[in-house]
Amino acid sequence: MPELTTQKKLYIPYMCDHALALEAALHALGTPAETLPPPDQETLDLGRELCLGRECLPLFVSTGDILRRARQPDFDPARSAYMMPTTCGPCRFGQYRTMERLLLDEAGLQDLEIVSPNSENGYQGLGEHSLRLRRLAWQGIVGIDLLLKLCHEYRPYERVPGEADRVYHACQRRLLDAIAAGGGRAAIEAMAWAGEQFTAIEVNRSQPKPWIGIVGEIYLRANPFTNQQIVRQVEALGGQAWVAPMMEWFYFSLWGTQMRARQARDAGGWLKAVLTEWVQRYDEARLLRPARHLLTHAHEAPVSQLMDHVRPYYHPALGTEAALSVGKAIDFAQHGLCGVLNILPFTCMPGIIVTGLAEAVRADHGRIPWLDVIYDAQGGTNIQTRLEAFMHQARQVQARMRVIR
Ligand code: SF4
Repeated sequence: MPELTTQKKLYIPYMCDHALALEAALHALGTPAETLPPPDQETLDLGRELCLGRECLPLFVSTGDILRRARQPDFDPARSAYMMPTTCGPCRFGQYRTMERLLLDEAGLQDLEIVSPNSENGYQGLGEHSLRLRRLAWQGIVGIDLLLKLCHEYRPYERVPGEADRVYHACQRRLLDAIAAGGGRAAIEAMAWAGEQFTAIEVNRSQPKPWIGIVGEIYLRANPFTNQQIVRQVEALGGQAWVAPMMEWFYFSLWGTQMRARQARDAGGWLKAVLTEWVQRYDEARLLRPARHLLTHAHEAPVSQLMDHVRPYYHPALGTEAALSVGKAIDFAQHGLCGVLNILPFTCMPGIIVTGLAEAVRADHGRIPWLDVIYDAQGGTNIQTRLEAFMHQARQVQARMRVIR
């Protein structure tokens, strides 16, 4: 896999705001980097022109994102690199890099290097300062997760429309500046400042809203364009969202690394993964502390617990996001949430597994309202109507819970 070089500018596809955290971490180490603008209809169309039509939706948009940037006059493919992380399987994500190489070559971008950190090795190979970069990026990713969670906690109740978004963006800027300045204490101070800003938002919580858990395919779950602003749709229909966080995926990768090392009796590999997790948890706890008291659900369940949840339905060793989504959905049910939305692109392999298991999971968890929301390049079908019916069910669950309490 090509390593990062400081001679080339690294373009990062915008999956969600967490991409900005990676950009800030790269800047901290003096690596030129730029997050591509968020995808839109133009990039979706560009990607579809080149793709065969059977690929996953995230591939369409991420390919279109880099193609649009490459068409701009200041873009020099020979002095640029494009980041597309990879994995060794088992779904199509492991083929994105290969497919994009073919597509970019076809578009005349043979000189554009693709950099592919691998989730199977904990995203090593990110250049000579790999460890420092991963730590900084991690602090940024956790910080963005927490800021989004604060935004989702406050926005449904804000008295002045737009206030939570305004505060979120101001806090995000402060956090990213802190990461670019070296993270650590500066990042913790940025989170403390964020806590003060969110506390100052005027809210009306006299009518509690039903909590909706959002699980599913990681790109669509996090990307507002491809999921048609699902969190805002939930809020517009009178709910509040708890979205499975980005950091969960990184803990899941480490959980897999530890499991494989145990199976291979690789004590060194196991210890390294355990220590990495310890450092990540340490950073997470320090960043959470200043804002913990503002969050209804401040703590996310550890991945090992999610895997225990999923074991009766699906063996965690089979991997894929299916294990995470089912485990998190059960965690949401156990927290008393009023419904679960499972987000997936059309034909998503892990997503289909989750939809198949949903009935058994619901049967064992109070028949919690559950909606599989499937998106394709046409933008999904009848989502609004089905979402309205789902939210109606969620409100009924909330009303029943109030009576029981
Ligand atoms: S998780 Fe689903 S959408 Fe994402 S790459 Fe795999 S199969 Fe495609």
